Amino acid sequence: MMLNNKGRPTQPVAVDNGEISIETFTGNMGLRLESPLIFEQGMPGRIGVDMADPRPVKVRLGGLERKGPIGLPDLSEPQVLRHFVRLSRQNYAIDAGFYPLGSCTMKHNPRINEKVARLAGLGDLHPLQPTSTVQGALELIDDLAHWLKTITGMPAVAMSPAAGAHGELCGVMAIRAAHEANGESRTRILVPESAHGTNPATAALCGYKVEAVPARKDGRMDLEAFAEKLGPDVAGVMLTNPNTCGLFETDVKKIADMVHEVGGYFYCDGANLNAILGRVRPGDLGVDAMHINLHKTFSTPHGGGGPGAGPVVLSDALAPFAPIPYVVHNDSGFDLVEQAEGQAQKSFGRMKGFHGQMGMFIRALAYMQSHGADGLRQIAENAVLNANYVRVGLNDKLHSPFDGICMHEALFDDSTLKGTGVTTLDLAKAMIDEGYHPMTMYFPLVVHGAMLIEPTESESRQTLDEFIGAMRHLLDRAAAGDTDYFLGAPHYAPRRRLDETAAARNPVLRYTPPAPTEGEETAFSAAS
Ligand SMILES: *Cc1c(COP(=O)(O)O)cnc(C)c1O
Repeated sequence: MMLNNKGRPTQPVAVDNGEISIETFTGNMGLRLESPLIFEQGMPGRIGVDMADPRPVKVRLGGLERKGPIGLPDLSEPQVLRHFVRLSRQNYAIDAGFYPLGSCTMKHNPRINEKVARLAGLGDLHPLQPTSTVQGALELIDDLAHWLKTITGMPAVAMSPAAGAHGELCGVMAIRAAHEANGESRTRILVPESAHGTNPATAALCGYKVEAVPARKDGRMDLEAFAEKLGPDVAGVMLTNPNTCGLFETDVKKIADMVHEVGGYFYCDGANLNAILGRVRPGDLGVDAMHINLHKTFSTPHGGGGPGAGPVVLSDALAPFAPIPYVVHNDSGFDLVEQAEGQAQKSFGRMKGFHGQMGMFIRALAYMQSHGADGLRQIAENAVLNANYVRVGLNDKLHSPFDGICMHEALFDDSTLKGTGVTTLDLAKAMIDEGYHPMTMYFPLVVHGAMLIEPTESESRQTLDEFIGAMRHLLDRAAAGDTDYFLGAPHYAPRRRLDETAAARNPVLRYTPPAPTEGEETAFSAAS
């Protein structure tokens, strides 16, 4: 293995199973270029920009100013540029290939959205501009709100939440405020076992005791268990529909009625709206609050902590408690309600600095308008068709834990891998070698070794056929006993198996320079 002078391996692929053994002097492999840590590339005195020394200023930090150097590496501009371009080329992205991550709706992001979001007058808005100078932007937010209310059949929408989980927080805070306004302090929230982890986390953050409701054999929530848990201390239920097993909760209206009967509210996790867009209106199902992940259903790049937006549609019962600020339209044009007084006196307050994720609003509205009502409906139809195409294409090799047609994602368990020595994780690693981002794994928790595949509507039949072919090949290889291949995968990725637990639990986030040694300069000068 090649090591640089800091002891880091620089060789990207040390294929050690005897098949191939490649060693290059640089550690690069063709177009796959290694990049040492940027700190390792630094060289004292090297600079990117030549600027005059700043004029001395009076220190007003009361002794808090830094005494030593900041500890950043000294680099030239091309070095910095190459470093980040090299890193960016190791990214997997929806723009690079098929990205079937279940529950995440990684669909194509139309370029028109990006173009519109960058238009002068939109891209350079400032949230502190006087409202008289941003009438168009407020109208855009209002327009988007109108589309969202129409699509969901709900009377109100809170636009400010910044992501799905933030939207859940908004919805549950509205539910809590509504109970409090009624003089009640309810203590429990019911959440099905298959729920996305953010649901119980949100309920707990709002001070509720979370109670899990088991699933039936067919993957839907067990109504009898639900009825047993209901009571006057239940603040509400948080249900995902379609649920995280990729199934439509067929008893959803009954669930709504049951929770309303005990005075609770129905929170619907709407992250999977992509599956029912234009086909079902959550407002008709008795929903009181539901977040919409604009970054999933209405495209816009997301993942890796990237920007999102999670507007929350609200029923008449919860609308008065919506967070500020929000846009209103009156005789003199568009305005913002920024104080919890007057018409907003019941608002539970503010949950974000400004009015919402404007860039996401623009992209989502562009997406809706470019598709139109018929196009939005077709999205849901094709998303469900594609998921079922994958399900049927793999069903003789992978077992579906729940019978019948799925919605927008196909769920499999690991029962056909039993006895092969290959786990869901190993299969996923081999998918990386085939050039695919793996599906969602081990979620939902109710299914053993779960594999949740969401192709989305934007993939062609050719892409799906190729993916199904690759999966079938891997599953045959596992069945034939080629276990070592899987245990060693990924063989061709820039990095191979990492200790994922250690990386998550003990991340090394700070660079500690090694003690200087005599005559040493940089990684590459040492090698020359
Ligand atoms: C993505 C997702 C969330 C959370 O949304 P974020 O925008 O990532 O916070 C919640 N529930 C479900 C079912 C999801 O798929």
